[in-house]
Amino acid sequence: MQTEIKKGKWKKNFSEWLSDIISEAEILDYRYPLKGCGVWQPYGFKIRNNTLKIIRDLLDETGHDETLFPLLIPDNIFAKEAIHVKGFEDEVYWITHGGRTELDVKLALRPTSETAMYPMFAKWIRSHADFPLKVYQAVSVFRYETKATKPLIRVREITTFKEAHTAHGSWEDAEAQVKEAVEVYSRFFEQLGISFIISKRPEWDKFPGAVYTLAFDTLTPDRRSLQIGTVHNLGQTFAKTFEIEFETKDGGRDFAYQTCYGISERTIAALIAVHGDDTGLRLPPSIAPIQIIIIPITFKGKEAKVNDVSKEVYKWLKTAGFRIKIDDSDAKPGKKFYNWEMKGVPLRIEIGPKDVEKKQITYARRDTSKKGTIPISASLFEDVKKILDQIQENLALMAEKNFSELICIAKDVNDAKKLLESDIGMVQISWCGEKECALELEERVGVGVLGTPIDDKWKIKAGKCPICDKKGIETVNLGKAY
Ligand SMILES: [Zn+2]
Repeated sequence: MQTEIKKGKWKKNFSEWLSDIISEAEILDYRYPLKGCGVWQPYGFKIRNNTLKIIRDLLDETGHDETLFPLLIPDNIFAKEAIHVKGFEDEVYWITHGGRTELDVKLALRPTSETAMYPMFAKWIRSHADFPLKVYQAVSVFRYETKATKPLIRVREITTFKEAHTAHGSWEDAEAQVKEAVEVYSRFFEQLGISFIISKRPEWDKFPGAVYTLAFDTLTPDRRSLQIGTVHNLGQTFAKTFEIEFETKDGGRDFAYQTCYGISERTIAALIAVHGDDTGLRLPPSIAPIQIIIIPITFKGKEAKVNDVSKEVYKWLKTAGFRIKIDDSDAKPGKKFYNWEMKGVPLRIEIGPKDVEKKQITYARRDTSKKGTIPISASLFEDVKKILDQIQENLALMAEKNFSELICIAKDVNDAKKLLESDIGMVQISWCGEKECALELEERVGVGVLGTPIDDKWKIKAGKCPICDKKGIETVNLGKAY
């Protein structure tokens, strides 16, 4: 039994909308009898795979190699990096038994893979000639979430954790790698039409063990910020712990300089959130499992002709490489329209007796609901491709517009509060750089400090720190985060 997505919920009741659409569009089934764990259904799994393919291609193009490390990490290895383990202390699942035997060393289900990978890095890296080492994996990680779980956003098994880990011979090389990671993730989110701000997280909110953390934040329709990617410069912290030592060019010894960066299924949450509408999903053609749905509109006596032309058009476009499907089920056309619109298929092609007569197809765009016709001719492929490209571009533009409308500069604490209570999702304010002021700011405004934007585009003219009145030297972003 499926419930209909209720009108007007995308913005007004986003949380409910998200749960409904994930279930109705058959992306994930969260009825699995374990809290925070869902089952990827075929349609959702295809979205996930198409999305992963984009990031895999980007990483492969930039010299990263895919690997697969064990899921289990022995406690004595996991506990080596004290700051890191402290950071994950409350979130780790432990395996204590093998069969009926209590294990001598309990095993952690990876919450992230630094401590699984780096003992091996120590074996692989001998000299400066071994750099750079750039590997990644896309695996499940487990975190014992104590807060209320939320589909795709706050889960206990993160099933689409793509983590990259690199090692270098100098701080400068690691810094260059951070830049490359930011570039790779920016291109990734751009291909998905997801807008973001990259912020340097405050000291007290960085990744456990990192020198600093950069984070990609987007905004959901309910005006909350959603962290969708992070990039960490780890310095030599882990290298010293795990003895990743190498011979330098001049024959000396040094520890490796490391970075790591990750994304998760929050990417899919963002994708669904920023492009959705009251009817359901609107998927960018770049990742849509079905880019084009053909719906034959048959009338008594004209079925054969319509079906033949539909199949022919299907064959042409399929051969041209589009992800395409014909819905020739017995359902009424209106029901089919609703179903594929809800599932976010970017382009619908209708072929009826009139279209057959005029040697044309009728199409409807999911992004704008606009309809039009295309002649069935040798240029059909180009014409369809052009429309899909326009849909891709337009979805990104609409999402960008929504995103930028949710961000505003605040003059002071009261202004920030007022803005966040109205229809703004993220405010920017000057800040002196002191932790006490940031914490007081958080308390008085009532939302979290997201950090300092690294892109000039998002920096504001320095004013005064709203707490201590000293001249602000940094811009800080504040928002209610997921
Ligand atoms: Zn201050």
